[in-house]
Amino acid sequence: MVAQILKTPIEYLKGVGPQKADVLKKELGIYTYSDLLHFYPFRYIDRTRFYKINELNDDLPAVQILGRILSKEIIGEKRTRRLVARLKDETGIMELVWFQSIKWVDNALKPGSVYIVFGKPGFFNSRISISHPEMELYNPSLKKQGNLSLQPVYSSTEKLKLFNLDSKGLQKLQFSLLEIIYKEIHESLPAYILSKHTLMSKQQALLNIHFPEDFKLLQTAQRRIKFEELFFIQLKLLKNKLLRTQKYKGQVFSVVGDKFNSFYSEKLPFDLTGAQKRVIKEIRTDTQRPIQMNRLLQGDVGSGKTVVALMTMLLAIDNGFQACLMAPTEILAQQHYISLKTLLGDDLVSIEILTGSTPKKKRRELHERLINNQLDILIGTHALIEDVVKFSNLGLVVIDEQHRFGVEQRAKLWKKNDIPPHILVMTATPIPRTLAMTLYGDLDVSVINELPASRKPIKTVHLYHSQRLRMYGFMREEIAKGRQVYVVYPLIKESEKLDLLYLEAGIENIADEFPLPEYRISIVHGKLSPKDKESEMQRFVRGETQIMVATTVIEVGVNVPNASVMIIENAERFGLSQLHQLRGRVGRGAEQSFCILMSGNKLSKEAKVRIDTMVRTTDGFEISEIDLQLRGPGNIEGTQQSGVLDLKLADLATDQQLLMEARALVIEIFERDPELNAPENHLLHAYFAKKQSGITWDKIS
Ligand code: ADP
Ligand code: MG
Repeated sequence: MVAQILKTPIEYLKGVGPQKADVLKKELGIYTYSDLLHFYPFRYIDRTRFYKINELNDDLPAVQILGRILSKEIIGEKRTRRLVARLKDETGIMELVWFQSIKWVDNALKPGSVYIVFGKPGFFNSRISISHPEMELYNPSLKKQGNLSLQPVYSSTEKLKLFNLDSKGLQKLQFSLLEIIYKEIHESLPAYILSKHTLMSKQQALLNIHFPEDFKLLQTAQRRIKFEELFFIQLKLLKNKLLRTQKYKGQVFSVVGDKFNSFYSEKLPFDLTGAQKRVIKEIRTDTQRPIQMNRLLQGDVGSGKTVVALMTMLLAIDNGFQACLMAPTEILAQQHYISLKTLLGDDLVSIEILTGSTPKKKRRELHERLINNQLDILIGTHALIEDVVKFSNLGLVVIDEQHRFGVEQRAKLWKKNDIPPHILVMTATPIPRTLAMTLYGDLDVSVINELPASRKPIKTVHLYHSQRLRMYGFMREEIAKGRQVYVVYPLIKESEKLDLLYLEAGIENIADEFPLPEYRISIVHGKLSPKDKESEMQRFVRGETQIMVATTVIEVGVNVPNASVMIIENAERFGLSQLHQLRGRVGRGAEQSFCILMSGNKLSKEAKVRIDTMVRTTDGFEISEIDLQLRGPGNIEGTQQSGVLDLKLADLATDQQLLMEARALVIEIFERDPELNAPENHLLHAYFAKKQSGITWDKIS
């Protein structure tokens, strides 16, 4: 329960007022007492000891020193003008330097007085010094001074500093805030949860987050707040799921019928992997119950998601339903159509494709057959969503590559039947477990974490630009074997011009190295019209060109099994998940495939980690974990509209254990008390009563 006082506008807080309130709103989004209370320090400074001057070196973080100011003087001209003060303790003398606010510091600094000096030691003119230290007059009679062993640091901005709201200023505000509201901080978690999970009270936690008495208390406070953040996200997600399954019936696929069985025993040209079998079983269990399935199927490129989707469609058809499969682009829809037709043969089911380019007459015919139940499977693009497309009895919707479809588009498909169809969303962008639980916590998640045994892992190497000739030589060898090669350039918006230059230069080089008539090249980039793009891609798909030079537009699922080499230029500029997606374009045939990462000699630490990771592993889940650690959840595709970014303290990269604990607890609670009516859960019940109840559509695919 949030106390009324926490909703007080921030300007009423002692020491704020309208002007400061204005910057607090603009710079930090702090509007109310509550906003300020939940604006946590981003780090803490260890104030537990004073360093001696003769201990200082520039490897140390910010430290504090107790010493007397001997002298001060302003030296230098113009740009080098600075105030230098000399500080002495019992072990030596050092310099403190200011380049800015010289006048102000000069006025304030009192030679002869003892100060607590705080800052990061560094070398200046080859002497140890601290520039722009924090200074505090030492007052031995003030006990409090030594008390705050961990000093909170709040992030501030230049603007805020103009209003005296630097970290110290913000700390003061927190202090006056806690003074008046401390008693009004109510517990938000039931008592039995606190004791079972050994969590600190909310009051204690908020106090110790802002003013920790020691490290141990700080950690305990952080754990409590992180737990709460994760717990309520899970509570919301699982509540949504519960509501959905209670409110909406699902189609029942009660039998495994002839079509499924004859496909499995007569047509399937390979053995299913263990992971594929497991997922099919999961889907089978789901669809047997009169509850709508909402399942996310994650699996690396080439892990064989399509056949799982197909067998699910056969299950639907065997039970008298129709199925549709929606892909984000025409070319992908075509590929699905062809591969499903090839797998199925002609006699088992009726299957058609509907895209933007389907002629009018054909379109009308398809609409008719669909509504008259003369069509089992319809594959298509966005065209499937149009209102004119009506099914007789839609039982299953499969969506490929879910990131490309908007929320509403998906909801539209969902509503094409009175009883909603089961939904299977396939994605080839593996996301870390913690992120999946938070993004898709109300969906069921299946994972294909195994590639068909016949597939050889892609070999990845890293070459510098200076080794380019080796790369060309390798390309020639592979092309001579009849293979095809991708060469991909980064195209990142901000520097589009430069990127285009790279691309053009690259194309020229390749055209020189691989001249006509022996070699033919497809070129695809964002500046082409969709039609030209499509036809260039098609030439490559049909094998008329051996090399495809492209910007990242080929990222989305094109399947050219004969392509065995992926060359990524300026690989240091791509994110990990992008590199992984690109690499997934090869390795689809039986041949050994290769990925060559080209880069300059100078690599940032992070770029090096990315490239090394790519060379070391092909496991998409492992790669996604590292990506999460490098970039944080906010930069990972799909997180933008989710609650993930509301997390203030919890970190999905490092708090996996806590998340599991919170989720398990929520599941347990709903099992015992789905309506949250039990007296011990009244706080949780109140949490929802406060919010508008109902279903949020955004997480439903
Ligand atoms: P993705 O998961 O990327 O969509 P696909 O479903 O397109 O992967 O499968 C990639 C290729 O692997 C296809 O040619 C498919 O027929 C083949 N495949 C799928 N499952 C198996 C398997 N169990 N054994 C051998 N090949 C398989
Ligand atoms: Mg696929």
